[in-house]
Amino acid sequence: MTRIYFDHAAATPVLPEALEAMVPFLKDEFGNPQSFHQFSRKAKQAIEQARHQVARFINAPAESIIFTASASESNNLALKGFALANKSRGNHIVVSAIEHFSVLEPVKTLKRLGFDYTILPVDQYGLVDIEQLKRALRPETILVSIMHANNEIGTIEPLKEIVAVCHEKNVLIHSDGTAAVGRIPVDVTELGVDAYSFSAQSFYGPKGAATLYLKPGKRIVPLIEGGIQEKGRRAGTENVPAIVGMGKAAEICLKQIDQWSEKMQALARRIVDELPKRVERLVFTGHPEKRLPGHISLCVEFVEGEAMLLSLDDQGIAAASGSACTARSLKASHVLLAIGLPHAVAQSSLVLTLGKDNTDADVDYFLTQFPTIVERLRSFSPLYARYIKGEDPYQFKPGADEHQTGHEPENRENIGEG
Ligand code: PMP
Repeated sequence: MTRIYFDHAAATPVLPEALEAMVPFLKDEFGNPQSFHQFSRKAKQAIEQARHQVARFINAPAESIIFTASASESNNLALKGFALANKSRGNHIVVSAIEHFSVLEPVKTLKRLGFDYTILPVDQYGLVDIEQLKRALRPETILVSIMHANNEIGTIEPLKEIVAVCHEKNVLIHSDGTAAVGRIPVDVTELGVDAYSFSAQSFYGPKGAATLYLKPGKRIVPLIEGGIQEKGRRAGTENVPAIVGMGKAAEICLKQIDQWSEKMQALARRIVDELPKRVERLVFTGHPEKRLPGHISLCVEFVEGEAMLLSLDDQGIAAASGSACTARSLKASHVLLAIGLPHAVAQSSLVLTLGKDNTDADVDYFLTQFPTIVERLRSFSPLYARYIKGEDPYQFKPGADEHQTGHEPENRENIGEG
């Protein structure tokens, strides 16, 4: 059976070199890195080597790397840890409307603890407006969190400018780099951010290892208290194999990223150029140029997102309709609503994230299968029936022209696992 993987934003295959580096730490080198004997020494050294590899990957000093278990944990640590460490300076936090829920949910929790927050709207491409950011900053603002790039629509934010605005007002800036790392080169020193989150599964490393970069000199209150691991900033015995795998993947990705991105970009270009010639009523989302290489996001009008994914899967093509973390919620994406799409259109989202191993043959296969799938699904669609009769397809759809730019994201009850 054909197996084509276009869902690299959710997970990437582990590099063979990373897997090979991990194996000894699942077998003979099982010692606890904090112990004082020969069984632990190699584990301790391996973690420190991985710290250097990950640090080099994002051009940071090794001591700034805090290992965590997921980007969600890194985001929680940044938001809650910075807020609690800076409580005496103020209580206001700013986040964008298109952040991942692992940023949006912590700010709601912080509100219950006495903090306040502002959700910054974005424009039709998902870009944060620098002037609006300036206006959102108050004397009591302590922290801004704006993602480097969006996982659902691929837009890359003007992070350097955002950092400059925050620092001018003495405000800390955290960025969720989960979607960016592994697709574009990242230099946290040049960007100037105070904290930056990402996980290994974005760049051909294993699941269960992630990082929070914390600029030297910045204080954070730990989420997990206990032992002295990660210099007391994240207690708990380290996941040595996953951390080692992350380090190796970082080392290789640093060398290969330009080549991989160029290849992914050429393949994505073919899809973006070719698809509208084969399927009508497509709405490409995100910024046309300021976007991640190999990232294609669009809405396929009159087709329901989940049905599209299941039909693609039947043909051996793995794709996404938004973030994997909320894929089972069956709700329109808060990101697509924030860029102003009507609910009915937002529900027809398709996200294709290509990877280093995709080929022209994968793209050819997708381009031949996709029009047939869309045609079949549209044949069941009452909206499409109205459209081909020349009527306004969305006319009777309640809420069709609503959009929630700048509003708080929907209540997340019933949202599936991350
Ligand atoms: N932030 C972004 C932008 C993401 O895309 C994801 C993964 N969907 C996360 C955070 C959470 O990552 P993890 O699964 O490693 O917790």
